[in-house]
Amino acid sequence: MITAQAALERLRAGNLRFVSEARSPEANVIQARRIEVALAQAPFAIILGCSDSRVPAEIIFDQGLGDLFVIRVAGNIVASSQIGSVEFAASRYGPRLVVVLGHSQCGAIGATIEELQQASENQSRGLRSIVDRVRPSVQPLLATELRHDPEALVHHAVRANIRASANQLRHGSSVLENLIQNNGLRVVGAEYSLETGVVEFFDGSTD
Ligand SMILES: [Zn+2]
Repeated sequence: MITAQAALERLRAGNLRFVSEARSPEANVIQARRIEVALAQAPFAIILGCSDSRVPAEIIFDQGLGDLFVIRVAGNIVASSQIGSVEFAASRYGPRLVVVLGHSQCGAIGATIEELQQASENQSRGLRSIVDRVRPSVQPLLATELRHDPEALVHHAVRANIRASANQLRHGSSVLENLIQNNGLRVVGAEYSLETGVVEFFDGSTD
């Protein structure tokens, strides 16, 4: 299996092809590849991304069948089932890179900000479970001057939420901690821009 750094370079290169409209033919859903991966999969990266219809990981990274193990959930939150999915993929298939992929204008972040500014009483339990996961990243920002600037608030909240999810994966699982210490597994945050199509990776050591 390729290293985390090599996996990161592969994603960067794929995103560059996506942005420059030079998508590679091998990323297409070709029959030969389907038959090959039906026998066994070896995804080189795990992506925990938002469910937003505009941020499909395989497309924005220009990857094909069998390349990425993707978990998508509104707000790219980390709850038990997300940790379990990452543990499963990292242990079973051996990819060394996990990317927490958030994006600009995230609706889950917006909903959390709205909820914090004006709590609604009839929010469903299901939606509340997502807002509750995002809330700790957003709440401290509302105590700063950012509260007067809705656009900047969302921008910073998106990034804080990505960092929080990455940290939860790094420290919320003994299985993943062990793979990080002994197998070169790396968890990095990244933000996709809906406006430009560019994915910006955060520094994996400090974010
Ligand atoms: Zn989103």
